[in-house]
Amino acid sequence: MTGSCHELATKQGKLLIDCGLFQGSEVRPLDIEFDVHDVDALLITHAHIDHIGRLPWLLAAGFNSPIFCTLATANLLPLMLDDALRLQLGMARKGREKVLKLIRTLTVPLHYGTWHTVNGTSDPVADIRFQPAGHILGSAYIEVRLPSEEIIVFSGDLGPSNTPLLPDPKPPRRADILVIESTYGDGVHESVAQRGDRLKALITRSLVNGGVILIPAFSVGRTQELLFDLETIIATQLDDFEKREWSKIPVILDSPMAAKVTEQYRTFKALWGEEAKEKLDSGRHPLAFEQCIVINSHTEHQALINRLKQTGEPAIVVAASGMCNGGRMLNYLEALLPDPRTDVILAGYQAEGTLGREIQNGARAVTIGDNTIEVNAHIHSMSGYSAMQISAIYSNLSRASEKHQNKSASSTAMPKHKKRSRKR
Ligand SMILES: [Zn+2]
Repeated sequence: MTGSCHELATKQGKLLIDCGLFQGSEVRPLDIEFDVHDVDALLITHAHIDHIGRLPWLLAAGFNSPIFCTLATANLLPLMLDDALRLQLGMARKGREKVLKLIRTLTVPLHYGTWHTVNGTSDPVADIRFQPAGHILGSAYIEVRLPSEEIIVFSGDLGPSNTPLLPDPKPPRRADILVIESTYGDGVHESVAQRGDRLKALITRSLVNGGVILIPAFSVGRTQELLFDLETIIATQLDDFEKREWSKIPVILDSPMAAKVTEQYRTFKALWGEEAKEKLDSGRHPLAFEQCIVINSHTEHQALINRLKQTGEPAIVVAASGMCNGGRMLNYLEALLPDPRTDVILAGYQAEGTLGREIQNGARAVTIGDNTIEVNAHIHSMSGYSAMQISAIYSNLSRASEKHQNKSASSTAMPKHKKRSRKR
């Protein structure tokens, strides 16, 4: 389900598909437990940490072959890994640059829908083709065509269908063997069509009692979908009275990382779904609308929190992390959870052991940093936002990393995990 990493071994060679971190309460060593020297290539389905997070460990183990992915994934890779290595593992800039430089050197970006031959030491290993998976920007399922003409399909994370921002995945025409991701295969989710209505209802209700609406969201996928939905509501779903009320609330994206990723979404407009493209054609800006303000510096961030805390003026704040485990969202929660005017909308799954789960379960007080914080805010939960939840992976990284370091005087020399980060 997580820590996605498959090896395809044939007579001609070996391919690796994804190299991710584990999620949830499972603690596993991060070391690569197989020989990487005869792996001919790494294929990456998408840039979520549970599919790419162990890449630094793969390099440390001696992997030195091409890394194939889509163009957009190639752009997101360094962003995601830099953020992860810095925030969660406290790795210094020089170390991060070294890892990222090597990754950039090995990366071979490919276009969707075109076959590419992966060469082994002597013969070609296979032809590969990336196809849109509709999950996050750049996401793909991968068709692998062996010299025997057999086709093996690796799904990566898929869909869901009917999201407005990305086109639906199109099924492959043929698969002799299908390796399919099944993390959420056992549940029924709030439909994508309804989630906008529910978001509107929640925000409209919150506006009546004033105060800040906090939406914790992970930087890739959910943040952009939320921005997209908010723009749709503001542009098309409000009557005159609502328009006046809503025009008073700024939508604040307080996450430099999410802003950078959103930038990438805008760069790759060609990959958007029809609905999103139509909006662009009609002169609207689904991911950069007028009411949306991006907060970058930490000084701005702190000043904004102080202001919101003192004035209680209304605002919608989208910030990471999605499970309230770290990032700037923590500072908002620390300042605003005691205020009964605050609303928190949990738009994604909250894993066991995270602050998000505690709040969702109705805790009356929570610990943030060294402080006990009273919870008087209104807490709402909604589903229907697709992208996977990643922060929980790193919440377990501390234990995993310690265990890993105790176990071996590791040759990978990964840095110690930093404690729950409060600044972002
Ligand atoms: Zn994913």
